[in-house]
Amino acid sequence: MTSDRAPHYLNGKRIIVAGSGIAGSTFVAAFGQLWLGESRKAPEVLVFDCQSRDEAMHKDSHMLILQGSTSNDGMFAIQQLRRLENVKAGSDLTSAYFSVWDRNGKFVSDIHPTRHPELPASTMRVSREHLMTQLVDKAERVSMAKFHWSCECTNAERLPNGQIRVSVESKDKALRYCDCDILIVADGPNGKLGASLQPPDAQKTYRGSSQIMGISHFGSDHLPAPISALNSGGMQMSDGEDFCCMYTPIGDGAIRWVFSQIGPAQKRTVPIEGFEELKKSLLDRASSLAGPFRRVIEATDPASVCIVPAMERLPFSHSHPEIIFLGDSNHLCSMLNPKGADLALKDGWDLAEQLYQSSSLRAAVTAYDQLSIPRVQAVMNFTKIRDRFGHSTGGLWQLYKNGMRVQRLFKLVGSQYQH
Ligand SMILES: Cc1cc2nc3c(=O)[nH]c(=O)nc-3n(C[C@H](O)[C@H](O)[C@H](O)COP(=O)(O)OP(=O)(O)OC[C@H]3O[C@@H](n4cnc5c(N)ncnc54)[C@H](O)[C@@H]3O)c2cc1C
Repeated sequence: MTSDRAPHYLNGKRIIVAGSGIAGSTFVAAFGQLWLGESRKAPEVLVFDCQSRDEAMHKDSHMLILQGSTSNDGMFAIQQLRRLENVKAGSDLTSAYFSVWDRNGKFVSDIHPTRHPELPASTMRVSREHLMTQLVDKAERVSMAKFHWSCECTNAERLPNGQIRVSVESKDKALRYCDCDILIVADGPNGKLGASLQPPDAQKTYRGSSQIMGISHFGSDHLPAPISALNSGGMQMSDGEDFCCMYTPIGDGAIRWVFSQIGPAQKRTVPIEGFEELKKSLLDRASSLAGPFRRVIEATDPASVCIVPAMERLPFSHSHPEIIFLGDSNHLCSMLNPKGADLALKDGWDLAEQLYQSSSLRAAVTAYDQLSIPRVQAVMNFTKIRDRFGHSTGGLWQLYKNGMRVQRLFKLVGSQYQH
């Protein structure tokens, strides 16, 4: 920690945050909170987002499942931000077990994540819109920060004096230049600024499967079994074919489904009139799946369907601490294990804390990398396991199947001993 009498190393500096999504707004809110009551002069923070304030908060809202098992999870970051009560008010806390069913919808196995002792549940279901409203509301109250909506950061270049010059274009195409000492790139999974500045080995890679996703609507209390018994997610396996389907109830009698299959990378939006054809080919392709599959696909809202390839970007460390990549611009998870919001929340908190409490920028960014990279790596390792499991065929599938049988047997024997 720096002494209270010495000026903070960020004294008189300017920080630019490019992108006020989940990671960027969490960072600003956390930084402001940590600086409260601090007698030393705070740096200036300029935040630019290419969308309008309304679009950033309300456009493309989807349901997010956030985890609360460890202090590395998104719910814990919301608690650190002292926003848990507000976020909780517009969300569902769930008991969050993840089940595996066979192709007939019969129970095979499950995972029960534990709840962190300081949190009210092990998972939370919250709309992106509600979460963003809470984050932006808090971030905009930070006195050292100035928000500029509808302003796109189009370029950044290093100046001979060590500063960074950021080109900012407003909606009316007016261009201006802002110089800063630290640039935080938080422009999301497809950000052009991030792409132009990331190290060459930070490219997204295709993981070999594509996901067809959609949202199905049933009346409340009418979800098909066995999904109806769930509060969280489940995966239906094929019997050794190279596909599986994941279901996540997202509240109000709706289910988000993700059908995952091995094959060449596919990416497209599906026009509403094209859904019938896609539905037919999906039901043909997975004709061996009984149980909930057909009902879920039949109840799909055609406007909700899209096809995305499983792309991943491994996290990278920061060799130049003046440009820091946060959230999806640093690492990307596929829809097989969507944890990007969880990671963005923790990234935002951790970077703010390290910048505030370290004695130099280099020390702060090194400490941040040491927190962030292993956290992302753990998520990616789990995704790899789910990927291999969900698409397993032949001998590998038999191995998994027998393993789960043995696990069930152990559980049964264990529960009999307990009684
Ligand atoms: C359908 C769907 C379901 C998901 N479900 C889950 C889930 O259940 N759990 C989970 O943890 N994650 C989930 N995710 C992932 C999660 O939403 C993302 O990982 C998360 O939003 C990443 O946060 P971010 O701040 O890095 O990027 P974003 O939230 O995308 O924010 C980026 C911001 O940068 C702005 N921007 C872009 N370019 C520029 C520029 N050049 N200049 C200025 N501003 C710019 C954008 O307007 C945006 O506001 C899901 C994603 C999708 C699409």
